[in-house]
Amino acid sequence: MKTHIYKSKVFDMACRQFDKAADLINLDPSLIKRTKYPKRCMVVTCPVRMDNGQVELFEGYRVQHHLSLGPTKGGLRFHPAVTVGEVAGLSMWMSWKCALAGLPYGGAKGGICVDVSKLSITELERLSRRYMQEMIPFVGPNTDIMAPDMGTNEQVMAWMMDTYANHIGNSIPAIVTGKPVSLGGSQGRREATGHGVAYVVKSYMNDLRIPLDQATAVIQGFGNVGSEAALALNAFGIKVIAISDVHGGYYNANGIDVQNALEYSKIHKSLKGWKEADIISNEALLRLKCTVLIPAALERVITEDNVRQLNCRILAEAANGPTTNGADEILKENDNITTIPDIFCNSGGVIVSYFEWVQDLQSLFWTREEVLRKMHNILDRAKMEIETQKQKYGYSRREAALTVGIQKVVNAKSVRGLFP
Ligand code: GLU
Repeated sequence: MKTHIYKSKVFDMACRQFDKAADLINLDPSLIKRTKYPKRCMVVTCPVRMDNGQVELFEGYRVQHHLSLGPTKGGLRFHPAVTVGEVAGLSMWMSWKCALAGLPYGGAKGGICVDVSKLSITELERLSRRYMQEMIPFVGPNTDIMAPDMGTNEQVMAWMMDTYANHIGNSIPAIVTGKPVSLGGSQGRREATGHGVAYVVKSYMNDLRIPLDQATAVIQGFGNVGSEAALALNAFGIKVIAISDVHGGYYNANGIDVQNALEYSKIHKSLKGWKEADIISNEALLRLKCTVLIPAALERVITEDNVRQLNCRILAEAANGPTTNGADEILKENDNITTIPDIFCNSGGVIVSYFEWVQDLQSLFWTREEVLRKMHNILDRAKMEIETQKQKYGYSRREAALTVGIQKVVNAKSVRGLFP
């Protein structure tokens, strides 16, 4: 079988990672392609009436990677760089991420190529609803469950749930996760990804015997994940010395006032014009000396060109796929940097999404403390599995995480067999 539709840097990157991991675990050739390639891909055209009365068309994607462990699960991204190939690569990573955490899901991802900053709130609502409307035949609480990703948020999830519920005729909160708590969302979901990142960073700092009050963090990306990670790191006593968004970076050696940055970016929709720190470029930010560097935005920002200049002790991948394959090969040889791979580092988000789904299905809701405790347990267990695998086979931490996740999917496929 050959596939052309997914051709893109991100899909190629996910495939190369998979091929290497499949090689390491000597994956049976009859299972290699079956496990690698996405099961389904939907492309929909969404006509949306704009505020000026004109109708504009938006192309939307949803890739469901595998169906062997349960329904598919993953975010929905609204971003001008979205392509079906990128979404397919991201859906593969969701598969390994869910399996590593032991969640009963296959991976999925959705996306629309759109610049949300150019849409009014009513246009965004019509686009979100129309996308869900077009996807109704292909999603469901037992089929495919969406969640926020870059460019989408609780409000988008609320509109999507409302659109689906109106179609079915009764409220189905389990159709999406990352909803507002008032609609059946989970306590702790909004901050889960960032909090999970901070939690695993703290855990590795403890292993490395780095005192938290002497540690510094640099965060690239100040969306939901980056900003919540910054708040959680601060709460653990870790100083955040630089943050950035698409417009540029902000550096203050004495520590960024995260709360102030957050309030500013809420009002101004970005950090542009924020005066509380020195301005630096995004490239310079990645090279700052710090204890932990946290890419929390797009894929492929750590490359062969800049990886040698990283000046951090820990690289915590809050984004999906921030490190290219070439950069990863170089990192692998560098014992001075501990890399916490994306499919583990940012898995707090989907873990709490799973809790939200379970709570919705049961109509029985948990406290924030319960949610966080259960999330920490899963993260601790996954970390242990990664470290054991790494030790046992001499793998890099990324290879360990990928092989554990992929092996679980493979096991499910093998015992289910091939039908008919
Ligand atoms: N978009 C998030 C991710 O990449 C969360 C997915 C989810 O909660 O389903 O992991």
